[in-house]
Amino acid sequence: MEEEQTKYHSNTELKGVTAVNGLVMGVARIYTRGNININAELVGEKQISEEIRKFKQARKNVSSEIDRLSDFAIAREDSQTSDILDTYYQILRDPELEIAVLALIKKKKLRAEKAVYDAFQKFIDLIKSSEKAFLVTRLSDLRDVRDRLVQNIQQLAVIASFGKDAVMVADDVSPLEVVTFARSGVKGIICNSGGLTSHASIIANAMGIPMIIDTKMITRLASDGDMIILDGYGDQVILRPDQEIEATYIRSIKRHREEEKQLRYVIDKPAVTRCGQPVSLQANIDFEEEILNIEKFRAEGIGLLRTDTLLMNSGPVGMDHKRQEEFCQAAFSGSGSAPVTIRLLDVGGDKVLDIKTKEANPFLGWRGIRILLDRKELLRSQLSVICRVAGQFPGRARILVPMVSMLDEFLAVKNELDLMQEQLAKKGIPIDRNIRIGVMVEVPSVALQTELFAKHVDFFSIGTNDLTQYTLAVDRGNNLISSLYQPLHPSVLNLIAMTVKAGIGADVPVAVCGELAWDPFAAIILVGLGVHELSMTPRLIPKVKQAIRLHTLNEMKALTDSMLRVVSHEESAGIEADWRIRFDEKIKEERVRPLT
Ligand code: PEP
Ligand code: MG
Repeated sequence: MEEEQTKYHSNTELKGVTAVNGLVMGVARIYTRGNININAELVGEKQISEEIRKFKQARKNVSSEIDRLSDFAIAREDSQTSDILDTYYQILRDPELEIAVLALIKKKKLRAEKAVYDAFQKFIDLIKSSEKAFLVTRLSDLRDVRDRLVQNIQQLAVIASFGKDAVMVADDVSPLEVVTFARSGVKGIICNSGGLTSHASIIANAMGIPMIIDTKMITRLASDGDMIILDGYGDQVILRPDQEIEATYIRSIKRHREEEKQLRYVIDKPAVTRCGQPVSLQANIDFEEEILNIEKFRAEGIGLLRTDTLLMNSGPVGMDHKRQEEFCQAAFSGSGSAPVTIRLLDVGGDKVLDIKTKEANPFLGWRGIRILLDRKELLRSQLSVICRVAGQFPGRARILVPMVSMLDEFLAVKNELDLMQEQLAKKGIPIDRNIRIGVMVEVPSVALQTELFAKHVDFFSIGTNDLTQYTLAVDRGNNLISSLYQPLHPSVLNLIAMTVKAGIGADVPVAVCGELAWDPFAAIILVGLGVHELSMTPRLIPKVKQAIRLHTLNEMKALTDSMLRVVSHEESAGIEADWRIRFDEKIKEERVRPLT
């Protein structure tokens, strides 16, 4: 009842957690997924061609989706999935179904989604009444293809209606949906649930789309078309703001833009601590669109090129060699003469691409290197692309192996890399003999054995997103336990400290490429722990650089020591709050007396 009332109130405030910072005002667009709610309204004569276009476009999209899944299944030698997908493809391209759908649109003036639904239903009813058992097994395939088509048509309609001012409001979003939103230019995303370091949040960050998660009830309080303010600085959402609130927010938006502009002064300054210790600030790159930001924000190369995001493009790209090669080449070309760290495919966990593989605990399951070693063809195909591209840009490639939990896994990949290099060399293909290969430190078992790993790896890259989830046993995407997801917990910091110590002992460089690196407070602590390479979304580099330049190493170490000793989250939150006040003061002071 109370909820019903607030639904129409102006200035309804709702707290959430900021996943991507920013302040935007726009029009709420409610996004529902998988909701087969068919619009049965008839269309006018003029709309018929538009409905036919929607059907054909949706069929094309679904075919591409099936192609992509099929490539992946073939590479994994998963003949069962690949057979199912074959059937899907045949259903999708069945001429009788097409005739039936087109007739329903043209003659009965049904919308594309209703025409698809009804045409499939007719076939389903026919099969149900037949006595042939083998046909009955096809029913679930028919339903699945039908639902994919209908959802696609509905999504096309939703995307078309986003408009430039759209702020997406959803229960939860997948990484793929974030990509779709970003590419259609939405202003912000607000969800009921979600995790700070879930891949959906990481992608929104990469794409620069402000996002608030964990509001619990935004979809219940907002209506499509409501004016909405996403205030990442205040971790809140304001629905249906009145004129006064709107005016206040417009002023804040201007002020934040000003502050961003002021930060630009730091772009061309060196990334060194106040006492002169250099820190290398590198780029995390997920999509080709971000490559221009490497130069724009003066990143010193790429510390993490996520190749799994290639599989999230819509269209028949999948594990396509050419597409991978182009992405890698663009990454090298767009980063001057600096190193490029290419991470091997890290699917699994919340990046589920295989529709038929269901695991009870995907984050503890078949993920990253575990998949690649089980399906060597996939590993070899990716190594072949990387080695060929590395040969064109000698001295710059670094390969990063994800989700390693035991040394044997790493050694097996190293062996495959050597074999691939030999094979290519024999064929006369130019290769780079100096490709460096490193391990992601993201599973505690690796952090605990970094002294051993240091004898075999060329570098360590710490993935704090997963290291936090696996150390504290807290699913990074589960909002029910999000308060327990604490990347600065002393146990996580201690594992980082152990890695740094092992790295220094064996002269093996240590980088951090998890989300922790872009938070100025965390970055200060990481440098205080002895990390000298941080990799992050390039547009966040200036803020981190500003923080590094305003602190001496001794100040950083003192802060790190106090964080290693905290006994409660409350205590660490207090240290952080004090630091943020002092940081603001330092910024103001610098404005008066600039550092050189
Ligand atoms: C990490 O785990 O910190 C990391 C960088 O990898 P991802 O977020 O892609 O799992
Ligand atoms: Mg990871």
